[in-house]
Amino acid sequence: MPPMDVDQLRQYLEFYQDLGVKTVYKRNAPAAEPTPAAAPALVEPMSAPPPVPVPQSESLFQIMQDIGDCQRCRLHEGRTKIVFGVGNERSPLVFVGEGPGADEDAQGIPFVGRAGQLLTQMIEGTAKKEGINIRREDIYICNVVKCRPPDNRTPEPDEMEICGQFLYRQLVSIAPKAICVLGGTAAKAITGHKEGVTKMRGKWFKWRDIPVMVTYHPSFLLRGYNQEGKREAWEDLKKVLHFVYD
Ligand code: URA
Repeated sequence: MPPMDVDQLRQYLEFYQDLGVKTVYKRNAPAAEPTPAAAPALVEPMSAPPPVPVPQSESLFQIMQDIGDCQRCRLHEGRTKIVFGVGNERSPLVFVGEGPGADEDAQGIPFVGRAGQLLTQMIEGTAKKEGINIRREDIYICNVVKCRPPDNRTPEPDEMEICGQFLYRQLVSIAPKAICVLGGTAAKAITGHKEGVTKMRGKWFKWRDIPVMVTYHPSFLLRGYNQEGKREAWEDLKKVLHFVYD
């Protein structure tokens, strides 16, 4: 990475701060390479980032190419396919889940298992009832982490931090009118708030300048006793769909 001036370095650090990255690592400069006296210390986060904030013109395809055959964190060890995201890359609405499960890992597409089928029903059913003409393929769906955590465990903070840079770039590239986050893990990753999902759901937060609605994860709603949760999730979806499409 080329040396940066102070402004570039500030932008660079703010970029990762927005993303929720709290720790950056200073790489030792090779002894043979003298650093100009006035140059700031070069600091780098754990994974290889872009040198300055990502331009909005970056396409999802370019981001996917940059991910490549990713081995930036331990999650690559157990994955079958990277699950980058699916849908309309000009969508005014993006759904963000936690991470791929077994079906998603096998197919390379987010939310295709049981939870995904419920999500599709919820989106399309609510839209239809509310007179909003959209199908699942009209929106964009992705996850905080792109590789399946072993045994579907919750992604570790460092995994979310490393993979979060790609989510960040996806969101910058799509620039939706609103984001709907599914479940507590994604809610924490996107909003930085630490309350449980029950407290956060139904409320608006912000990611950069984009309104964020938090709702329950469809896997949680699949648990049998969850009628009240389903009703609440439907209310949350109504709010977000009307905000985006009215
Ligand atoms: N759960 C998620 O959070 N994401 C998926 O893609 C599937 C299940």
